[in-house]
Amino acid sequence: MPEIRKHYFLDEYCIIAAERRKRPSDFRTAKPPAMDEKSCPFCPGNEDMTPPSAVVYTDLGVPVDGPAKIRNWKIRVFPNLFAAMVPSPTPSTTEWVALPGHGHHEVIVDSPRHNDAPADFSQEHMELLLKAYQDRYAYYSGLEGVKYVSIFKNWGKEAGASLSHTHSQLVSLPITPPQIKRELEAVSSAAFCPFCNIAERERASRRLVAQNEGWILIAPFYSQVPYETWILPRRHMSNLAGMDNEDRRDLATILCHALRCIRSLLNDPPYNYMIYQLPSDYHLNIRIQPAVSKIAGFERGTGIHINSVPPEQAAAELRPT
Ligand SMILES: [Zn+2]
Ligand SMILES: [Zn+2]
Repeated sequence: MPEIRKHYFLDEYCIIAAERRKRPSDFRTAKPPAMDEKSCPFCPGNEDMTPPSAVVYTDLGVPVDGPAKIRNWKIRVFPNLFAAMVPSPTPSTTEWVALPGHGHHEVIVDSPRHNDAPADFSQEHMELLLKAYQDRYAYYSGLEGVKYVSIFKNWGKEAGASLSHTHSQLVSLPITPPQIKRELEAVSSAAFCPFCNIAERERASRRLVAQNEGWILIAPFYSQVPYETWILPRRHMSNLAGMDNEDRRDLATILCHALRCIRSLLNDPPYNYMIYQLPSDYHLNIRIQPAVSKIAGFERGTGIHINSVPPEQAAAELRPT
């Protein structure tokens, strides 16, 4: 029977409808044609097709572009040419409530290799990418006027990636998104952090996919889409900046593991991962959502998702045998 599931601690719902269940192979999608490396603006050698870097990660440290653009990078960060937010927006309309789109929008090119997949990143490279996320989060969250910093990845065309070369994005906002604000209120007003409770209870549940010293990977009870997974630190920390070297190493391990499990079960599906974090009074979490189901009229009309794969089943299929 379909079941309406309440969010762990918010007044939000999703519908688990196993009757609509499909096999993992039914979620497989066609691959978009890959772009030629010569015309890819994210490839080494084509740096002139993008704005100067904000920072680059190289073997020699974290330099910034001077008059000449740095070529021998491992991760390259620069402003998005098609920015959703800009540092100096023009005044907004006075109709209803409108705020200037003050903020920042960066592209983080995850790898110099055009055909690299995040699931194939080495442990060392994933740690470097997490370091870049950590650094950029710390930088933007400290800026005047920035209320929220969203870091996310779109992998695959159906998940919103406009270029196939692997990259992440960072958008800073002058507002806190309402959903995050409700979570923040719930965490900061509770006697015991609800995410700490999730991390503790799900360790022994049917929804556990993997865990290591610092982190837990689960198919959450409140799963909006098929094969959704969350990564939570077992220790209470509000954001990536709270990670030490061991935390970063363990997160790299479990994130690579999650991406590999999803890729092998669903044949390299498009997906999004989103890092939920705040400067304080919050519990960092990373949500990975394969983009294998359509958001249609019911979801748009109600804000409630119908998920055809129970998370208990998703976890069982994602766990390596
Ligand atoms: Zn490329
Ligand atoms: Zn917590």
